[in-house]
Amino acid sequence: MTSPFFLSVAIAAPIPKLFDYLPLAETDMSHYQAGLRVSVPFGSRVLTGVIVSIHQNPQYDPAKLKPISELLDATPLLPSDIYQLGHWLSEYYHQPIGECLSLLWPVLLRKGEKAQASKQTFYAPMPHQPDPSTIKRAPRQVDLLEHMKQASQQTGQWQKDLVKAGFTPTIINGLVDKGFLEKQERDSFQPIKGECSHTPLTLNQEQQQALTSIEQNQGFKSFLIDGITGSGKTEIYLQAIAPHLEQGKQVLILVPEIGLTPQTVQRFAQRFDADVLLLHSKLNDRERLDAWLMASKHSSNTGRGQIVIGTRSAIFTPLPNLAMIIIDEEHDQSFKQQDGVRYHGRDVAVVRAKTLDIPIILGSATPSLECLHNGLSGKYQYLRLTQRAGSASMPELQILNIKKQAVHHGLADSLIQPIQDTLDKGQQVLVFVNRRGYAPTLYCPDCAWIAECKRCDAKMTLHQKPAHLHCHHCDSKLNIPRQCPECLSHKIQAMGAGTERLETHLQYQFRNTPVIRIDRDSTQNKHAMEELLEPVHRGDPCIIVGTQMLAKGHHFPKVTLVIMINVDSGFFSADYRAMEKTAQLILQVAGRAGREKDKGVAVIQTEFADHPMLHLLKEESFHALSLALLDERKHQHLPPYGFQVLLRADCHQPKEAEMFLHRVRQLLNQHQQGLNLPQISMIGPLPAPMELRAGRFRSQLWISAHQRKVLHFFIGVVLKDIYEVKGFHKVRWGLDIDPVDNI
Ligand code: ADP
Ligand code: ZN
Ligand code: ZN
Repeated sequence: MTSPFFLSVAIAAPIPKLFDYLPLAETDMSHYQAGLRVSVPFGSRVLTGVIVSIHQNPQYDPAKLKPISELLDATPLLPSDIYQLGHWLSEYYHQPIGECLSLLWPVLLRKGEKAQASKQTFYAPMPHQPDPSTIKRAPRQVDLLEHMKQASQQTGQWQKDLVKAGFTPTIINGLVDKGFLEKQERDSFQPIKGECSHTPLTLNQEQQQALTSIEQNQGFKSFLIDGITGSGKTEIYLQAIAPHLEQGKQVLILVPEIGLTPQTVQRFAQRFDADVLLLHSKLNDRERLDAWLMASKHSSNTGRGQIVIGTRSAIFTPLPNLAMIIIDEEHDQSFKQQDGVRYHGRDVAVVRAKTLDIPIILGSATPSLECLHNGLSGKYQYLRLTQRAGSASMPELQILNIKKQAVHHGLADSLIQPIQDTLDKGQQVLVFVNRRGYAPTLYCPDCAWIAECKRCDAKMTLHQKPAHLHCHHCDSKLNIPRQCPECLSHKIQAMGAGTERLETHLQYQFRNTPVIRIDRDSTQNKHAMEELLEPVHRGDPCIIVGTQMLAKGHHFPKVTLVIMINVDSGFFSADYRAMEKTAQLILQVAGRAGREKDKGVAVIQTEFADHPMLHLLKEESFHALSLALLDERKHQHLPPYGFQVLLRADCHQPKEAEMFLHRVRQLLNQHQQGLNLPQISMIGPLPAPMELRAGRFRSQLWISAHQRKVLHFFIGVVLKDIYEVKGFHKVRWGLDIDPVDNI
């Protein structure tokens, strides 16, 4: 008899340990290996886990161990580099290994589904077509054959499309039986086929220098392309990936959630004879698994390159022939996961590139201070593009002081004429306001009542289309009261302006001009954004009113006037990153103007026209502002000169989360003394800036140090004790390593 063995399984549970299970009856050790998925009984549920090791020393009484319910895979689905990345996540972000490994799988694999691509029936014409006279007497079959001969159908058709076109299974099968068509089962997920219709542009000197540096490199290296909007960063990406695609390799391009526009995808598809796969949040679970499988089964033997374009979590896709990673808009906050394992997609990407010994290109018009610091210190190779490519020049930045000006519905009256002038020239205007809805506040002038959310420390936004009050933090909705609930006054009114209000106001002012509103509400349907933007792309004179959704990935050649409303709210925030974020936003939005031959103007409408940072941005550059901000950070030992961990806790009951963090703080103080680590500093517990959110009271504890190593060592030591704090079972808590916000 062979000696008994046990399976150590990682399960996605918020507990930092592995769980032992018995193998299935009638199986031996040869059936198991690390990396295979299993389903296991866990409490009253059955969960999917992954075998981490096979051993003979169980942690508990073997008689009490349960067998796994099912072995789900015959071979490990994750290549070793991805599996290692999971372990790195667990170590660096101090999160349970089970949660980190489960992050790596598409949702269906987490749920225990088989790793098989979905198939659909496809009909392809046979290479040797029989004599057409054999179907003379079957006119519908002749029709179908004709239908298949049309240019786009020559390679074949899906059954579902033929049925939609009015051909019944009897007609189709008739042609199969007579040898005209072949019935096939094909992967239902198909990549976008590159058309290879566009040729590379001749690079300008700065672009060429950047490309040469990238081409001369071999193996792992991080490049930071710091290039103003429209300076031709994308053109460099295209030329940098070309040789890899020609060799049949894969490249991964990460873009911000809202940057994945059809225009972006087109630029890649039009350049190469390669397959383009998209991995983004609008795919359903099935499509995502299919795309994931297709990427993970890529073979360079076919000689066909593959471009995978995706958002944050695409960084975990297995890519057996990965040759280069590109992160566009590197500074974008959507690369940071904001719950569970709060990883930063950009940082994970750099680790992955290092493990694979391949280059990574980070690009931005407004680099994060972290990356800029790495670029300036030589850790990354720093490449700068200071000119717009082609004939375009940077828009002129203007500051409009509205302290002493008439403002109606959010817009300064003095801007009406410039808008009119722009439209008269046949050009387009973009009005940016980072608030959707009609107005951010509903207020009573008689008693100063304000509509507030009961579940959040926040105001409710007034919406008119359709009319309701909406909390953007917890999604609560209410009817709009007719009178003030406090003093019964009928004078309640909207204060401030969101996209809907500006849309209405502008439509009233410019009755014969289309006003197009782009925000989360107007673009809920799948193709809504493309449809709404059609007149913009056609080049008709029009006004676009929109939120941040417009700030990325869009190329509007006819927009020459950009007006920014309310971008200054970040100037006085408690968040030390607010200035950096505000400046990034201003430049991204301003960068929409004058992208082709007509010069653009970007107007910042503000009450704080004298703010020194605003002047630095206008008179100098984002780069100059970044250097000033870096200097401040250095003095204050803030990132990238210091390192932070944010311990967040929340609870339905007031004070509970705070009390939990007080207890944690005591433990941390003891450890700090015991380990003699005066370098560690702690602040808190403090209430979160929005203490009550979605019905939960939130508290924070900040832990920081000048050296990352010291901080991580400390967290590693204290973590076990935090998990073991008793008496707060209703409190949820989580660690945020390298937090990017304190909300
Ligand atoms: P970025 O990614 O930095 O915003 P793009 O690569 O999108 O810049 O380039 C902006 C515009 O300039 C695009 O229309 C692009 O086709 C054009 N462009 C880029 N490089 C060149 C070049 N070397 N010569 C002419 N036009 C260029
Ligand atoms: Zn009132
Ligand atoms: Zn709310």
